[in-house]
Amino acid sequence: MEEYVLAALERGLTGLMFLEHFEAGINAPRRTWLTSEDFARYREEGRRLRRLYAGRIEIGLGVEVGYNPRELEATKKFLAVNSWDQIGISCHFLEIAGRHYNLLSSDRQTLAVFDAYGIEKALGAYFKLLAEAVELLPGNVLCHLDAALRHHPGIAPALSAQSSTSALDRIFQVMAAKGTALEVNTSGFIHHRRQAYPSSDLLARAAVHRLPLCLGSDAHQPKEVGRFFGPMADLYP
Ligand SMILES: [Zn+2]
Repeated sequence: MEEYVLAALERGLTGLMFLEHFEAGINAPRRTWLTSEDFARYREEGRRLRRLYAGRIEIGLGVEVGYNPRELEATKKFLAVNSWDQIGISCHFLEIAGRHYNLLSSDRQTLAVFDAYGIEKALGAYFKLLAEAVELLPGNVLCHLDAALRHHPGIAPALSAQSSTSALDRIFQVMAAKGTALEVNTSGFIHHRRQAYPSSDLLARAAVHRLPLCLGSDAHQPKEVGRFFGPMADLYP
């Protein structure tokens, strides 16, 4: 975590928000989120760094909460036990025949499962889950809105078909009513045809609802802290 802080300072950032992953009740072979013991250490180290770097950079301790409708109460309970500087909402997993599959995975077998299930159907289920999540969870930012199935070659037409349904407007309406911000996630510059998540057409639609935006680099390594913030500033001066 300290390496991320140092990278942020090097890039001239004045603030850094950590956003570790929480999931509940996910039946998947690989864990991509923290355990409760991990979260305790994460918070402790975050507080230490906040004291150590006070006056040089503002350090926030947040959590990205994956939505699982079966575990709504457990998720709300987890969020209520501690205070968080930011609560990001996302949905990484779709349940198919009793197992959870990661919508953001590049794994070939996982993509084959979504293929068999139907890409448009999976995307439709994803947006329905997100609409529920923004309504039912106490989040303040919605993460990487259109990153689901980003590694599937057929995602572009499926996404534009889904975008023309009312699902996205429902999400935006709830966000506007609750004051939830929309994350502009620059990891999209790697995976998403040199655009952020969400893409510029979705950002234009979000603008109609006057949603607040929140810039994030989704850094999974210190060198990725603040990545592509320059190009974003050029695109949206
Ligand atoms: Zn995520």
